[in-house]
Amino acid sequence: MSAHYAVRDGVAVITMDNPPVNGLGNALRAALMDGLKRAEADAAVKAVVIIGSAKAFSGGADIREFNQPRTKPELPEVNEQQDAMSKPLVAAIGGFALGGGLELALACHYRIAAPRAQLGLPEVKLGILPGSGGTQRLPRIVPMAEAVRMMTTGATITSEKAKELGLVDEIAAGDLLEAAVAFAKKNPPLRRIRDMKPRVDGNTEEFFREIREKVAKESRGYPAPLEIVACAEAAATKPFDEGRKFERERFAHLVQTPESRALRHMFFAERQTTRIPDVPEDTPVREIRKAAVIGAGTMGGGIAMCFANAGIPVTMTDVSQAAVDKGLEKIKANYAGTVSKGRLKQEEMDKRLALIQTATSLDAVKDADIVIEAVFERMDVKQDTFRKLDAIAKPGAILATNTSTLDVNQIAAATKRPQEVVGTHFFSPANVMRLLEVVRAKQTDKDVLATTMKLGKKLKKVPVVSGVCDGFIGNRMLEKYVQQSLFLLDEGATPAQVDGALQRWGMAMGPFAMYDMAGNDIGWEIRKRRAQERPHMQYSKIADRICERGWFGQKTGRGWYRYEPGSRKPIPDPEVEAMISSYREEIGVRPRSVPEQEIIERCIYALANEGAHILDEGIALRASDIDMVYLTGYGFPPYRGGPMFYADSVGLERVLKSIQSFQKGYRGEQWKVAPLFEKLAKEGKKFNG
Ligand code: NAD
Repeated sequence: MSAHYAVRDGVAVITMDNPPVNGLGNALRAALMDGLKRAEADAAVKAVVIIGSAKAFSGGADIREFNQPRTKPELPEVNEQQDAMSKPLVAAIGGFALGGGLELALACHYRIAAPRAQLGLPEVKLGILPGSGGTQRLPRIVPMAEAVRMMTTGATITSEKAKELGLVDEIAAGDLLEAAVAFAKKNPPLRRIRDMKPRVDGNTEEFFREIREKVAKESRGYPAPLEIVACAEAAATKPFDEGRKFERERFAHLVQTPESRALRHMFFAERQTTRIPDVPEDTPVREIRKAAVIGAGTMGGGIAMCFANAGIPVTMTDVSQAAVDKGLEKIKANYAGTVSKGRLKQEEMDKRLALIQTATSLDAVKDADIVIEAVFERMDVKQDTFRKLDAIAKPGAILATNTSTLDVNQIAAATKRPQEVVGTHFFSPANVMRLLEVVRAKQTDKDVLATTMKLGKKLKKVPVVSGVCDGFIGNRMLEKYVQQSLFLLDEGATPAQVDGALQRWGMAMGPFAMYDMAGNDIGWEIRKRRAQERPHMQYSKIADRICERGWFGQKTGRGWYRYEPGSRKPIPDPEVEAMISSYREEIGVRPRSVPEQEIIERCIYALANEGAHILDEGIALRASDIDMVYLTGYGFPPYRGGPMFYADSVGLERVLKSIQSFQKGYRGEQWKVAPLFEKLAKEGKKFNG
């Protein structure tokens, strides 16, 4: 039984009880239907209240049942029963009413909410639309512009705002149930939203033309927002039942789109990353009450902000007072920027800054529960730091490194407590980017790993476990993407052409604009090191030529593109193109025109193929983790679902055929297909099974 039924003073109270969020699963929908019918049939009942827990009215569809068979009644049938009631129906909303939860409340005659409850229709975030009357009822009770905004962005509003808009009738100052029962007892008239007229300001046709244009611009690559606008227009122009029929059709269409499949994949993938097969969910974790960061540079400062934002006191150290001061100034400027944009209150900024202490001596980290090292990317410097940390840090402290490429096992070996060492690879800017690669070294203790994953969540990151290898999951794959993007130049493409193709496909930024932003010197340094470690590594030397000219990208005003002073807008540079052209002559390549589709396939399939190697080697736990790395750390378009999911959706056999054709082309020997890829393609299977 996932709802309780009781009668109080002639009011039937249906209490939903499906923790944690009253997901509208099979049993709860059936219990709601039973409760409604029972109340309707009982002559002693004059009105009905539907209520959840203090934490949640209802979070909508039960995600635990997403891939299981559904049983009747479906939510629309429950809504129909609500419409058929001859007694006033009051929704008592505590905590939040989201998605199907809000649709349930919208099919009641009245809504009473606790202060600060959250109401919203977030379906758009999964590439679908509210399919149980939400697109038809919401615009009948709140102004059309507000309804469209809520449904196309998925943003929630508070009960206070909902009261202003008419969505909520009363805010319960005291006990929510008492207030709802008192309201119901007054026997208010049956006010069905379906019988109301939508409220459009001004001319309806003009209103929708404008809103369609605006939403089309904002929703590049995503079909759901425009479908939502179409449903809202149906609400404004058609009778309720016709609008409902239209909504159902558009919902059925959206559920099948690749974009919605990709977004749903992402939703589940995000919830998977913390599951580690040999580390049970109930593994006891260590308490992180205090943190320390070593190195107050680009990454150290950002990482310190992550702790302060999560309310954890943090000490940031560097080698000199000047370095520490510079780091702290940057943090202050960063917060001040957010305050000036109105996204952070001054008091909150002060509170966060007060959590950040600075020091120039490593001794200051001795009482930290976790120490994260973010010093220069050199093994000798890292090992020296860890040797010292081993002597200073308290027993049980987690010793973490933010290295991007170095061997965490070697770093751990500098200490007498390698079991306490783990990698925490943040992405730049660390206070913004959601990805956190948590690198599990050979000897990392299970509880150290579990604690670091939990901390990642607390810092509002998406923590993904990676084994030790050069570049871990994300940067190791990126190397193959970079390699292809440069080979494409060798063959005849320009940086703007490669960037344009990938950006139109959906990447947040093309690779060359990305290198210019990150600084071309960083890749150059890595290539120099690799030239010794892997002398046979193949790459286009054109990248080195750019660096030899001192064209490091945005910071030097020139890179793969030119930049006007103070601007980040890349401007194609004929001089770069001439350099590429003479490089082609030098290596004896006759340029050809490279089709856009080939640019996309070579770059994206290079990611998927390296991802398959990574899976094969057990560096990543699952294909969806690799997808999360790209979705949250590398600007991969969510509606494509990540490189592995994308390869799955094209079909692995088809992808493999393309790769085989690339093997016959320029530098084709670089394409080594992962055995797992071949096996799955042969069996007609997918990475994300
Ligand atoms: P940075 O040069 O901006 O900062 C490094 C800081 O470490 C400097 O302030 C330096 O004074 C300090 N430092 C050097 N040796 C020290 C020591 N022995 N004790 C205390 N402080 C010391 O470098 P960064 O970009 O912040 O990178 C730091 C680490 O993070 C590197 O391992 C890098 O590979 C990694 N990383 C960087 C990025 C990025 O985009 N910048 C992204 C992910 C990871």
